[in-house]
Amino acid sequence: GSRIGILGGGQLGRMLAVAAGRLGMEVEIFEPASEPCAAQVATRVTRASYEDVGALRDFAARIDVATYEFENVPIGAVRVLGDLVPVRPGMRALEVSQDRIIEKDFLSGIGLATAPYVAIDDFGDLTAALGRIGAPAILKTRRFGYDGKGQTRLSDADEAPAAWETLGETPSVLEGFVAFEREISVIAARGMDGQVVAFDPGENRHEDGILRATTIPAAIPNGLAQDAVLLAGRILNALDYVGVIGVELFVTPSGLVVNEIAPRVHNSGHWTQDACLIDQFEQHVRAICGWPLGDGSRHSDAVMTNLLGEEVYAVEEMTGAAVHVYGKGTARPGRKMGHFTRLSPRG
Ligand code: ATP
Ligand code: MG
Ligand code: MG
Repeated sequence: GSRIGILGGGQLGRMLAVAAGRLGMEVEIFEPASEPCAAQVATRVTRASYEDVGALRDFAARIDVATYEFENVPIGAVRVLGDLVPVRPGMRALEVSQDRIIEKDFLSGIGLATAPYVAIDDFGDLTAALGRIGAPAILKTRRFGYDGKGQTRLSDADEAPAAWETLGETPSVLEGFVAFEREISVIAARGMDGQVVAFDPGENRHEDGILRATTIPAAIPNGLAQDAVLLAGRILNALDYVGVIGVELFVTPSGLVVNEIAPRVHNSGHWTQDACLIDQFEQHVRAICGWPLGDGSRHSDAVMTNLLGEEVYAVEEMTGAAVHVYGKGTARPGRKMGHFTRLSPRG
C-alpha cells in the first residue's frame, strides 16, 4: 500500500485524504495550525512548523510520497522532504506558481498569452508601468495572494498612490485589465509516465475575487474547449508535472489568456466529485502514486456552488444537491465552508 503525506490540512487536503482512503491508502497531514479540518478524516496528523526539520524528517519516514494542498507551502520544507521522499508535483511547479512574475514569464516563455504585465518594486515602477499598460489595471502582490486577497484595481492612474499603499508597498505585478467574455478553468492531470488527461472545462463566476460557482460545461464552442485542454497539457509537459493542476483562463475575442495556474486540486474542479466516475482528488492520488490515470469522463452536467461563511448553515435544507461540508471552525464572511453540486442530464 501507499502512505501519502499532505502538506496543509485545509479542505483540499481533507478531500484528497477521503479519496486516498477510498483507495485503501493511509494519509498523514502536516499542518502547523491547530484543528485542521483534514484531521477529521486523516489517518494521522503532525502538528508542527514548516521550519521544524526534525518533524519534517519524521513525517517523511512514515510516508511513501508527499504532496501539498496549497501553493504557498514554504519551499524550504519541500526541500527537506524532497531529499527523503518524492514530492509531487515537483519543485519547478511550486517555484512557478508561488511568484506571479515567474509564473507569467514561464507562461509567455512557452508561447501562451497572459495579461500585459510589469514587475513593480517601488512606487516609481508603478507610475512608469501605468504609463505603459494604462488603466484600468490590477495591482497584485507577487506572492501569497488568494481568493482575491492581495490585489487591488486601478480605474485611473491617479489611484496609484492609494493602490500602492493598500498592497503594503510590497513587490507586486501590474496587470492590464483583460476585458474577458467569460472565465473558464481546466482541471488536468499528468501521470508519472507522462500521460495527460483533462476534465471538461468549466465556467467560473467570481464575486469579490472569490469563486462563487462553476458551471459544466462552459458555454464555449468545442474548438475553444479543446484549445483550453491542449494549452493545459502544454503547461503540464513544460513543468514535467505529476499530479492535478488547475489552469484559470480568460476567454477573450482574440482567444484564451492564462490568468494563473494552481499546482494542486482546484476549487473549480469540485464538481468532478459528483459528475464524474473518477474525480480530481482520486486523479491526483493516482498520479502521485504512479498509478495509471483514471477515466474522468463526465456523466452529467453540473453546477457547483461554494458555501461561503454562514451559508453553510443552510445545508440541511438542500435535499436535491450533493452537499460537501468541510468541518472548518468559524464561519467568517467569505470563508469557504463547503460547497454543493447540482446535476442535470448531460446536454
Ligand atoms: P485564486 O483564489 O483563484 O487563487 P487569486 O487571489 O490568486 O485567486 P486571481 O485569480 O489572480 O486571484 O484574480 C481573481 C479574479 O480577479 C479573477 O478570477 C478575475 O475574475 C479577476 N482578475 C484577475 N486578474 C485580472 C485581469 N488581469 N483582468 C481582469 N480580471 C482579472
Ligand atoms: Mg491564485
Ligand atoms: Mg485565481
